[in-house]
Amino acid sequence: MYCNTCGNEINENAVVCPKCGCATGKSSSVVKQDAPNTGFAVLGFFFPLIGLILYLIWKTETPLKAKSAGKGALIGVIVSAAISLFYIILIGAFVGSMAGGYYY
Ligand SMILES: [Zn+2]
Repeated sequence: MYCNTCGNEINENAVVCPKCGCATGKSSSVVKQDAPNTGFAVLGFFFPLIGLILYLIWKTETPLKAKSAGKGALIGVIVSAAISLFYIILIGAFVGSMAGGYYY
């Protein structure tokens, strides 16, 4: 591999060029492993707590991957809240009709 700055041949594992001292891009390729991940979004959706924990662990080093898990967790929480709200209204309506029947 060759240095992007000075063009000298350098060790392919070198993070910094020994000739000019510039970063070789090796460290930035490690950062590039960070990408949105649908798998973790789905995991976060079904297990919002795990998604939240993964978000907190990853948010500094791999923010895109963290965002996927966090977003999945958020959607999971909203959907489960909507479902429980639906059931509360349904049960409330059922109990209300029962009570109404009792009084009449
Ligand atoms: Zn160089």
